[in-house]
Amino acid sequence: MTEAVPPPPTPQPPSSQPPSSQPPSTPVAGPPTTGPPIAVPPPLEPFTPGGTTALGGEHTGLGYSPAMAVRTLGLTKRYGPLVAIDDLNLNVPAGAVFGLIGPNGAGKTTTFSILATLLEPTSGSVEVAGHDPANEAQQVRGRIGFMPDSLGVYDNLRVEEYLEFFASCYRIPRTEWPSLVDGLLELVDLTGKRQDWVDSLSRGMKQRLSLARTLVHDPDVLILDEPASGLDPRARIELRELLGELQTMGKTIIISSHILAELEEICTDVAILEAGRLLAQGPPRAILEQLGGTRTIQVRLGDGSTRDYTVGSDAEQQALLKRLIVEEELPVTEFTEIGAGLEQLFMQITEGRVQ
Ligand code: ATP
Repeated sequence: MTEAVPPPPTPQPPSSQPPSSQPPSTPVAGPPTTGPPIAVPPPLEPFTPGGTTALGGEHTGLGYSPAMAVRTLGLTKRYGPLVAIDDLNLNVPAGAVFGLIGPNGAGKTTTFSILATLLEPTSGSVEVAGHDPANEAQQVRGRIGFMPDSLGVYDNLRVEEYLEFFASCYRIPRTEWPSLVDGLLELVDLTGKRQDWVDSLSRGMKQRLSLARTLVHDPDVLILDEPASGLDPRARIELRELLGELQTMGKTIIISSHILAELEEICTDVAILEAGRLLAQGPPRAILEQLGGTRTIQVRLGDGSTRDYTVGSDAEQQALLKRLIVEEELPVTEFTEIGAGLEQLFMQITEGRVQ
C-alpha cells in the first residue's frame, strides 16, 4: 500500500442481514478492532416530541425508530480544550439523503468518524441503524458503508481483486463474488476497468471504486465524506445520478460537500453545522421558510424580457404565478426560482465562525 488508506473492514460474523442478492452493496472502510476501549455513553433519552419525520415515520422516543436511521443526542467531542462537536442532536430519517454542511472545521468529519465507529465521543448518545457505535461497533459496521474524505485505495491490486478483498473481509461467500463484483462495477460504471490496476485509475474512477467498496455488504446507511471532491463536472453529475439510484434502492445517505448547489439537487434534508454547533436541521425549504428567508423568482415573458420577483414561501410563489397568468394575463414562458436554496440558506445562518 502506498497511500494512507482506511483500514480494511474488520472481518465480521455473518451479519444479521444476509448478503444481498440485490445489486451491490458498498463497503465500509472498517475500523480497527484494537485500540482503547470505548466509553459507554448514557442511554438515549426520549427524542423530541412525537410528531412525524420528514418521511412520515413516527419518532418513538427511547429505542430505535426504524424511521430514523441515525440519531445523536447531546453528542460532544473534545480534542483537549477544543470542542469540535458541541451538544449535537441530529435526526436522520431513514431513506433520506441528508447533507451535513458547514465551513472548514465545523465538525463534519469528526461527526462522521463517530457515526462510523472510528472515533470515541466525549459524551452524548448515538444510534446508527438502531445500534450504538461505541458499544455495538460490529453491528454498526455491518449496517453502514463509510467513504472517508481521504481516498483509500490499494496498489498491486486489480479493480476486481480490490472488491473481492473487501467481499472476503465481510465474509461474503466466494461463490457470490462474481455476481457481486459484476453488479458493483456496473453500478459505478467501471465494468471496463475490471482488470486494471487500482492505482492506474483516474481520481474520479478511484472515487467510484471507493463508493463501490462501501456497498460490498449491502449496508443500509451510507456515510460519504466529500465524495465529490476533486471530480470533474461530468464525474460529479454521474456521482449525483449514482446517489439517486442508491436512494431509490432504499439506502439512507449522509453526505458532506462544500458544493452546496450539488447537495441542493439531491438532499431531502440538511443539517448546518458551524464551529461544532448545529444551527439548523430539516428539509432546506422548510428551514428557509422558518428563518423568514426569501427567494427570487425570475419570470420570462413571450417577448424574451425578464422580471424578478421576491417571495417568502411556496404559498406566495403559487399566488404570484396565478396572479401573473390569470389576473394579469401575461405571456409567461418561464417561471424559475433563482437565488434560493442552500447557498442562500448557508450564508444566511452561518457567520464564518471557525474554531
Ligand atoms: P473540513 O470541511 O475542513 O473537512 P470538518 O467540518 O470536517 O472540516 P473536522 O475535521 O471535524 O471539521 O474538525 C473539527 C475541528 O476539530 C477542527 O477545529 C479541527 O482542527 C479539530 N480536529 C479534528 N481532528 C482533530 C484531532 N485529531 N486533534 C485535534 N483537533 C482535531
